[in-house]
Amino acid sequence: LTEKLQNVFKNLRSKGRLTEADVKTALKEVKMALLEADVSFKVVKQFIKSVQEQAVGQDVMNGLNPGQMVIKIVNDELVKLMGSETTEIALRLASEVTIIMMAGLQGAGKTTTTAKIAGKLKAKGRKPLLAACDVYRPAAIKQLQVNGEKQGVEVFAMGDKNRPVDIAKAALVHAKTNGFNVLILDTAGRLHIDEEMMQELQDIKAAVPVDQTLLVVDAMTGQDAVNVAEMFSNKVGIDGVVLTKLDGDTRGGAALSIRAVSGKPILYVGMGEKLSDLEQFYPDRMASRILGMGDVMSLIEKAQANIDEEKAKAMEQKMKKAQFDFNDYLDSMEQMRNMGGISSILNMLPGVGAKMKGQDLESMVDEKDMARKEAIVLSMTPKERENPDLINPSRKQRIAKGAGVDIAEVNRFIKQFEQSRKMMKQMTGMVGKGGKRGGFK
Ligand code: GDP
Ligand code: MG
Repeated sequence: LTEKLQNVFKNLRSKGRLTEADVKTALKEVKMALLEADVSFKVVKQFIKSVQEQAVGQDVMNGLNPGQMVIKIVNDELVKLMGSETTEIALRLASEVTIIMMAGLQGAGKTTTTAKIAGKLKAKGRKPLLAACDVYRPAAIKQLQVNGEKQGVEVFAMGDKNRPVDIAKAALVHAKTNGFNVLILDTAGRLHIDEEMMQELQDIKAAVPVDQTLLVVDAMTGQDAVNVAEMFSNKVGIDGVVLTKLDGDTRGGAALSIRAVSGKPILYVGMGEKLSDLEQFYPDRMASRILGMGDVMSLIEKAQANIDEEKAKAMEQKMKKAQFDFNDYLDSMEQMRNMGGISSILNMLPGVGAKMKGQDLESMVDEKDMARKEAIVLSMTPKERENPDLINPSRKQRIAKGAGVDIAEVNRFIKQFEQSRKMMKQMTGMVGKGGKRGGFK
C-alpha cells in the first residue's frame, strides 16, 4: 500500500466510536493549545475533564478521523461555553434611562470602551450621557471628556472633589431632566483587585439603579482574568463582559476563563485604540482563535459537506469485504477533489502543516501522479472497473494507450491496487479489534 493511496483511503476507513486512547491523544494537543492561548490552568483542567467524559464512545463522523472528531467536539463545547450566540446589551425602553456601570482594573480599557459603547448606542438612535466617576487619576476626567467629544456625546463631570457615588446620583438626575436614555458610569480601577475598589462599586450600585454592570478585561491578562472575573462577579455582580485589546497577538484565552468563572456573556471585543474599534463578540470565531488550529474547523465543515454519508458507508462495507473496485477508486478521488485535494487538506490540519511542510508532503502527495492514475481508470471499460480480474495484457495495452501512459505504468498501478485491497482487508480487521487508528498525523 503506497502512502498516496493510504491518504486517499484515510477518510474512508471504518471509524466506529472514539476510544479512550483516541480522546487522550487528541486532548493532549488541545490542552497545549488552550494553555498556549493563556486559558487559565484551572479552567483548562475542568474543560479537558468534561470533554474527556463526553467524547469517549461518541461516533466518529464520516469524513473525520478520530483526532478531528475530538477537535470538533472540543470546538462545539468551547462555543457552547462561550455563549453559543452573540448577546446584545440589554436596554430599557427608550423612554427610560438605562444605567450601565463599567468596572475593571486600571488600564483595562474602561474609559475607552465607555466612549466606544456610547458611539454604538448613539448610532442606534439612543441618547447616551457619560459620567466621569473616576476621581482618582488626574487625567481620567479629561480623557473621558476628550473621547466623549470625539463621539459627539455629552460627558457629565463634577471635578475630582466629589465622591463617585454622588457624581453617579447627580448624573442620573441630569440624564432624567435632559432627555438622555442611557447613562454610562465610567469608574475608577486599581492596578490590583482591592477592597476599596469593590466597595466603591457596591456603593454606586446601592445609590443608583444600575441595570448592567459591564466588566472590562484586558485580553492580554490571560491567567489573571480568572481572579478578576471571580472577584468582580462575587463582590459586585456583573452582567456582561467586554474583552479589550484583542487586536494584539493574544489568542484570547481570557475569554474562556472569564466566561467559565463568571458565567456571564461577553458582549463586545475591543479591537484597537480607535473609538470605532469595538466589535460584537462571536463565540465561534473566538473558539477557533483560542484553539489556534488554523483552518481545522473549515476542514471539518468541508468533510461534512462533501463526503456523502451513504456512499461512505457503502464503501466501508465494500472495503471490509475487499470488494473495493476501480469505480470506488474514482469516487474516492472525486471526494478528495471536492475537498480541495490532499495537499490542501494536509495543510489545514493542525500540526501537520508545521511538521510536514517542506518535508515529505510533496513526495507523499503527488497530485500529478494521481491524475495519471485517474486517467488510467477512466480508460477502463465499466466492466473492467467493476472486475479488475478481466484486465488481460491486450486490455492493458488499450488502457495504456487511452490514458497516454506506457503499459508498465498500468501494470504497476493495477498491482498496487490489488495490494491495497489486501491491505485494506487487514486494516479493517485491525480496526475491528481495536487496533490503532489515525490520530493527528
Ligand atoms: P481604563 O483605565 O480601564 O479606563 O483604561 P483606558 O480606557 O484608559 O485604556 C487604557 C489603554 O488601553 C489606553 O491606552 C487605550 O487606548 C488602550 N485600549 C483600550 N482598549 C483597547 C483595545 O481594544 N485595543 C488596544 N490596542 N488598546 C486599547
Ligand atoms: Mg479610565
